[in-house]
Amino acid sequence: MLGVFVDTEGIQAAGGLLLQVMPKAAIDEELVQTLESRIASLSGFTPLLRSGKTLPEIFQQLLGDMGLKILPERQIVRFNCDCSFERVLGALKMFGIDELKDMIEKDKGAEATCEFCGEVYQASQKDLTKLIQDLQQPFTEVPIGQLRKSSH
Ligand SMILES: [Zn+2]
Repeated sequence: MLGVFVDTEGIQAAGGLLLQVMPKAAIDEELVQTLESRIASLSGFTPLLRSGKTLPEIFQQLLGDMGLKILPERQIVRFNCDCSFERVLGALKMFGIDELKDMIEKDKGAEATCEFCGEVYQASQKDLTKLIQDLQQPFTEVPIGQLRKSSH
């Protein structure tokens, strides 16, 4: 939504509003519908700008009851997911030896999709075999000297 108000003196007000839902919120249809209906109920951005309200006041009016949090100025906001192949392997490991063997036999591997960012991870038969080996040897001997070093 964009608005520009121009009179004979030039541009008097200009601004816009861009809403983006995070991947997990996109599956919340009710939230998306609420946002869409609120935006649709506005007669445009220009009247809001011309009303003399500040941007925080406009956001408060639109989203104030939805847990609005205005971040300090100039803070860079970036979508970030800390998922990794190692985490996926850790999650797969929790299925246990029998399930992992089943994945190898039936699917020749495993595919996992991060529900947060949508990243797709593929675990090969080799990866799954390694996990089974790890599970079959729960106690790995670690020399004491090495333990001290890694505890830093
Ligand atoms: Zn992710």
